[in-house]
Amino acid sequence: MKFFKRSDESEPDKTLDDLRARVTGARLPASVERIASQELDVLSKIGPSSAEFTIGLTYLDYLLSLPWQTKTEDNLDIDRAEKILNENHYGLERIKERVLEHLAVKVLRMNRKARVLIVDDEEIARKNLAHVLDREGYDVAAAPDAESGLRELERLEFDVVLTDLRMGKVGGMDLLETVRRRHPETRVIIVTGFATVPSAIEAMKKGAFHYITKPYKLDEVRDMVRQALEKRTLAASTRGTVLCFAGPPGTGKTSLGRAIALALGRKFSRIALGGMKDEADIRGHRRTYVGARPGRVIEEIRRAGSANPVIMLDELDKVGQDFKGDPASALLEVLDPEQNRSFVDHYLDAPFDLSSVMFIVTANVLDTIPAALRDRMEVIEFSGFTQEEKAEIARRFLVPKQIRDKGLATDQVAFTADAVDRIIHEYTHEAGIRNLERRIATVCRKIAKESLGPEGRRQVTVDPAAVERFLGKRSHQHDVVGEHDRVGVATGLVRTETGGDIIFVEAAKMKGRKELLLTGSLGDVMRESAQAALSYIRSNAASFGLPEDFFENQDIHIHVPSGAIQKDGPSAGITIAMAVLSLLTGRPARRDVALSGEITLTGRVLPVAGVRDKVLAAKRASVRTVVLPAKNRADIDELPERVRQGIDIRLVDAVSEVVDIVLA
Ligand code: ADP
Repeated sequence: MKFFKRSDESEPDKTLDDLRARVTGARLPASVERIASQELDVLSKIGPSSAEFTIGLTYLDYLLSLPWQTKTEDNLDIDRAEKILNENHYGLERIKERVLEHLAVKVLRMNRKARVLIVDDEEIARKNLAHVLDREGYDVAAAPDAESGLRELERLEFDVVLTDLRMGKVGGMDLLETVRRRHPETRVIIVTGFATVPSAIEAMKKGAFHYITKPYKLDEVRDMVRQALEKRTLAASTRGTVLCFAGPPGTGKTSLGRAIALALGRKFSRIALGGMKDEADIRGHRRTYVGARPGRVIEEIRRAGSANPVIMLDELDKVGQDFKGDPASALLEVLDPEQNRSFVDHYLDAPFDLSSVMFIVTANVLDTIPAALRDRMEVIEFSGFTQEEKAEIARRFLVPKQIRDKGLATDQVAFTADAVDRIIHEYTHEAGIRNLERRIATVCRKIAKESLGPEGRRQVTVDPAAVERFLGKRSHQHDVVGEHDRVGVATGLVRTETGGDIIFVEAAKMKGRKELLLTGSLGDVMRESAQAALSYIRSNAASFGLPEDFFENQDIHIHVPSGAIQKDGPSAGITIAMAVLSLLTGRPARRDVALSGEITLTGRVLPVAGVRDKVLAAKRASVRTVVLPAKNRADIDELPERVRQGIDIRLVDAVSEVVDIVLA
């Protein structure tokens, strides 16, 4: 039996020498190189047998494995990007358009070289400086006087201005003041042959970044510009440009994110925020912990092997509940362009520049996202698909993908249009297409299995009967059809985490003492709507043909089934009112008329959110007529024809207008 000695025990010096060589060769940013060297010094003092030594070694190894300066080069071809987005996604026109605009701006800004403006009346000085800075890889422009310098600054954004002090009508000091006032993000370095202590003090007071006296060494200027650039803050216009994709599951958020990465030629990775319990998941554990690890952001960057991947932060709206620490502030450090240039992961304990990472955040609903975060994001709303869109996506993408995925050939299996329709209608109930894809996958898997059986490989056509054979009896019956209209039960539309849905609000009465009982998923907001609905009916009893004292000696019980998100509470007001009115008048409420609207005590109908998702939910449930507030007219006008098709939308201003639409 052979014994292997760990190399760090047998030859600690060699290990350290190797590490030292790696540190020098790793192109680390100066500040990180310093930290690494210090760590090496500490290691060389403590013995290799101590636990600290191993911890330190692991740490250094990790530090060195990060892509500090490694970036993939962006593909800036917008036409190609458009093609890639189209190849992978059916429909979503407005969304794709906005993504492309966002990309164009972001990419232009992220990839522009640092710009330096030289203002000097001496041609030789201008030329010398321009030559040196040009070789540094900057975009350099030069101006012979302050006036033309200022014109140049109006035309383009510059990061650094190098200016002479004495020249023409307007001197360097005035130029400095104007630049600080009009372009606060631009750093100004004064270069002068007439240096005096008071003028240097004045310049620094007025906000100059530095003051260099002629004759200067070119190296000195080069270093100073480099320092100024390191400190530069991003211009205001890049703020708030993290993309946020908001919408129900299965509507293409993730796959669009992937397509963006593909189009740019960047690495893609995903971080699920949903399950996170601890700030350390984002920002890492301090190294003093045993088994300390870096946070997910740094981990993903290491895995991507590049400092500018596209990182998708999934389910931002699910963070928060039982989270240890403050998730919003941790995420701000990651997402905010002001802060993320020097993001400090607790494990690394050294700043990592996240500013060229492209972050895309996803959320099902926006309500639960802290305002500080929401303000910094450009929200793009994804909404559910119509039945026709789903069928088209299935035909073009999901079916071929699943057939290939299960080891079959696309010319061996065919789904008829009726079969796809049947799967959508009877085996799924969703705004997006996740379950649809799963169902298609199940069918393909069963076909794959059969093709290995006695009958062997053969052509398979999946028709509606085959769907039932493969998937069993229909699993969803969320239709309004097939049941009778009932007294005291009204159909409502609500927005949920998964898009939109229909609910049936029930009302019942019994002997009692004027009590309003509420059960089901009633948040405080919905309780208030129920109160408002009842008060409105009581104060207008006569106009509905009810006795003034109908509430004497009885209780009314309202039940709202689960599913509605609490925020959407008020929009159930009109549905509750109709359920109660139906109960009290004995007129059955039409099941195939679905309602959404907030009501006031005086019976006015106020606008609601999520109109598109609600209309789509109504169509899924075979609702014929949708009643919505007139104040939502603009939302309705925005709906594409294919969404509005086949559904009768009635806009109302007052509860009184709804009565005859709903009650038989
Ligand atoms: P989300 O991230 O919104 O939950 P996904 O991006 O995971 O949704 O989409 C679910 C599935 O549907 C994926 O297989 C995706 O490729 C597909 N998909 C979604 N939207 C479209 C679309 N517009 N065209 C084609 N396929 C789509």
